[in-house]
Amino acid sequence: MDGTRCSFCHKPKEEVLILISGIEGYICESCVAKAQEIIQEEFPFGEAFQQASTMLQKNESGEFQELQMKTPREIKTHLDQYVIGQDATKKTLAVAVYNHYKRIQQQAEDDGIEIEKSNVIMVGRTGTGKTLLAKTIAKVLNVPFTIVDATVFTEAGYVGEDVESMLTRLLQACDYDVDAAERGIVYVDEIDKVARKSDNASITRDVSGEGVQQALLKMLEGTDVLVPPEGGRKHPEQRLVKINTKNILFVCGGAFDGVEKAIARRINTNVIGYTSDSQDKIDRDNLLQYVSPQDLKSFGLIPELLGRLPVLTYLNPLDKNTLLRILTEPKNALIKQYKKLFSLEDIELVFPEDVLEYIVDMTLEYNLGARGLRSICEAIMTDAMFDLPSQPEVKEFVVTLDYAKERLDNVKLSTVNAA
Ligand code: ADP
Repeated sequence: MDGTRCSFCHKPKEEVLILISGIEGYICESCVAKAQEIIQEEFPFGEAFQQASTMLQKNESGEFQELQMKTPREIKTHLDQYVIGQDATKKTLAVAVYNHYKRIQQQAEDDGIEIEKSNVIMVGRTGTGKTLLAKTIAKVLNVPFTIVDATVFTEAGYVGEDVESMLTRLLQACDYDVDAAERGIVYVDEIDKVARKSDNASITRDVSGEGVQQALLKMLEGTDVLVPPEGGRKHPEQRLVKINTKNILFVCGGAFDGVEKAIARRINTNVIGYTSDSQDKIDRDNLLQYVSPQDLKSFGLIPELLGRLPVLTYLNPLDKNTLLRILTEPKNALIKQYKKLFSLEDIELVFPEDVLEYIVDMTLEYNLGARGLRSICEAIMTDAMFDLPSQPEVKEFVVTLDYAKERLDNVKLSTVNAA
């Protein structure tokens, strides 16, 4: 025994789980917990509490981990730097995520009130920022994150991947740290593609649709899953890792093409018997904003699955103004990226306003969503990126409207469309 003790309670090293050393002494885990309680009592939701933003959380084996805790407002402010518009979704997501991680921290208290998990489902056309939002949120919180595509899953025993494979990816994303994986975020893309084909339960087996939804149920709710860490199908000799999904947040996203019909049908039925006033208030150009679980059920998601995705939110289609902002405003906006690329060659790159508008107009014309901005920009910039590095005398390059039009005309339409 070397006499090392907690400077607060004086317990010796042997009697505590961990001694964290400071400049002038040590603190043990129970004193950390006590100190945290005092702070929480003093500032239940106050600033000091939030500023001590990396909080210590004890896991089952008694180890402490750091968990980044930010307020919903802070989370949204961070999202604003990367994602343009979509305010409603940002707020909903920020609250859902905040509550989720609060819930994890409250589990130690046994007062009988269990806060339910707030898995999220996002509905919005492709390229409107669903993946970007989920990815950015995971970055803000500094938790493991993975994106999986629901279309690759099939029911266990069929050709395709088991639903469990999403946990393998999550494990891989955090270097096989099971504790970290157990509070990560999984983004399940294209959840609409596993919708069953009709609202009625089918008599024939629906291997890739309803079967997958059934397989997802337990995982979304929280269960122990044995996961092959290297991926692939389970087989008897393989080493398996147990992961509990109770604290993993699942965010599902899908375009749900055509769900507007179900929404319109429901709205029309609901307003029967009312004056035409309520009909007038409905914004028929953007019906998605009225989406409800009932509509997703009509689309083919089973009610049990919807029940486990209690937070439903929608993304707006991107209009001209939003696309313009996406092009220039986010922290890593495309135009900023090109400018940086050229500045590495000591060239100042200039995009006049009319060229930016032209890029957005062409993106809208080809109906490519925000992803199209990049294809259009690449088509315009490739020649310049090819030639300028061998012309050191050039110090400034202005992309004029004529230049942009000419470059785009030279690229076959099919090339842009295929991107
Ligand atoms: P989705 O998952 O909805 O199909 P993504 O999130 O993958 O779409 O978006 C594709 C790309 O388009 C992103 O990488 C991003 O560059 C851009 N993008 C889409 N929507 C936005 C937005 N609202 N703000 C900023 N960039 C966006």
